[in-house]
Amino acid sequence: MSKYVFVTGGVVSSLGKGITAGSIGTLLKKRGLKVSNLKIDPYLNVDAGTMNPFQHGEVFVTDDGAETDLDLGHYERFIDESLSERNSITTGKIYSSVIKKERRGDYLGGTVQVIPHITNDIQERIIKAAEGLDVLVVEIGGTVGDIEGQPFLEAIRQMAVRVGRENVVYCHVTLMPYLEAAKELKTKPTQHSVQELRRIGILPNMLVCRTSHPMDEGMKHKIALFCDVPPEAVIEVRDEPTIYNVPMSLHKQGLDDLILKYLGLPDDTEPDLSDWLKVVDRFMNSPEVVNIALVGKYVQHKDAYLSVVEALYHAGIAHSVRVNIVSVEAEDLEKGDPAAILKFADGILIPGGFGVRGVEGMILAARYARENNVPLFGICLGMQMMVVEFARNVCSLPDAHSKEMNPAAMNPVIHLMEEQEGIHDKGGTMRLGAYPCDLAEGTKSAQAYGTMHITERHRHRYEFNNVYRERLEKSGLKVAGVCTERNLVEIVELPGHIWYVGGQFHGEYKSRPTRPHPLFDGFIEAAVRFMRAKAKEA
Ligand code: GLN
Repeated sequence: MSKYVFVTGGVVSSLGKGITAGSIGTLLKKRGLKVSNLKIDPYLNVDAGTMNPFQHGEVFVTDDGAETDLDLGHYERFIDESLSERNSITTGKIYSSVIKKERRGDYLGGTVQVIPHITNDIQERIIKAAEGLDVLVVEIGGTVGDIEGQPFLEAIRQMAVRVGRENVVYCHVTLMPYLEAAKELKTKPTQHSVQELRRIGILPNMLVCRTSHPMDEGMKHKIALFCDVPPEAVIEVRDEPTIYNVPMSLHKQGLDDLILKYLGLPDDTEPDLSDWLKVVDRFMNSPEVVNIALVGKYVQHKDAYLSVVEALYHAGIAHSVRVNIVSVEAEDLEKGDPAAILKFADGILIPGGFGVRGVEGMILAARYARENNVPLFGICLGMQMMVVEFARNVCSLPDAHSKEMNPAAMNPVIHLMEEQEGIHDKGGTMRLGAYPCDLAEGTKSAQAYGTMHITERHRHRYEFNNVYRERLEKSGLKVAGVCTERNLVEIVELPGHIWYVGGQFHGEYKSRPTRPHPLFDGFIEAAVRFMRAKAKEA
């Protein structure tokens, strides 16, 4: 039978619960267990697909096409497993399914209530996600005390009754604020949030305390006493220079030993964390720096391009260079001189996005990179704008549609396919999840992947328009990847350019700290070459 670690949060949000949950997953997997992670988001949206990246950061897409919370990205990177729709639960999903069952008459005239109907549905989904696993790590989004989180907390409380208290660990992540005036860390907010948990019947087994200052033994004993946990179960997490150091930090404090002990699992093996140590060492100590311009439209939100940023770091780690990512607001390129703004860059990445704002700036960035032989990597909208730029400025294909009609497709080379016509930018059909792609011989992509057949994750409506393929290819654009079964162009390249690769898919979702995504790897490799050549010239 599967066992469970429930991760809750207290005092404030943004404590790094997702990274804690992912790190627990990493450590348990390294102890030889079959592990996965599940995220519960108490918001009413059915999935994260409709959420604005300015408010909520990136939408993470799984192989099976689920649009999920960005924490699933952390999990995949930490536990190195591909997750699915099952690994993400929202209030919207739960209520939709319970109401659907009610309409079908499944409840046989009964009164349908939060307890037990909603809480049962939650538990059944948790149990389903744990099928075949030794341990499922479940993170409850939000903060203890939030109204919308209550059914989930009640459900995880009942889980201990359902599967046995010895098969469940409650781990509470909390904040230890430092008061400058008093020059000390304060435990009271943690005490209060633990009280709140206990009030609803959850007695946490361990506390993970986020602090900016070290906690001494006396303080750990005080928290232990007030919160009714053993002192060794008070774990400190300081702000780390890289999130990839968190598993090591938790392991040093015995967190995984403690979880195994609570769950009655053997703890006689030491986890082999050497690959993670290497990741952290290279991240921290690589001497050279490559400067990458991230030309996007959601650059003010720190998490809007989270997986892209992580994938760039992974590639930097593989090449022993530090990647300095400079966000460039695409619209600023429309107002200023793109060459002056982008001069610093050893590589330019244009990521995905929705809507028309900023696309002209992306086109200017693509042109600058193409004309100046600067490494360029376009992802989804970025790839589409590379094709539009090429069509306009190399093939002299005039723009066809008004921006209002066709926001991402200002030139006929990018279009909505016939079966999609009439579907607008909300809801409707998107190409979501994993699709196969065949690569062309002799291309940079084929070389980077080291194979001719790949699978990548998609999230978009517009496509490369095959009507113009021949004309674009005659002008020098190379189609380097095609989804053969649907005859869709997935990758474009420019032969002879240092690195000009645009992909219709989001490779960043599949990048891992120890295994960078091939196209990010190739892009950073080219940026390093560019940087070194520039340094030699200077
Ligand atoms: N808005 C574009 C489309 O729908 C690109 C989407 C994306 O970059 N993820 O095709």
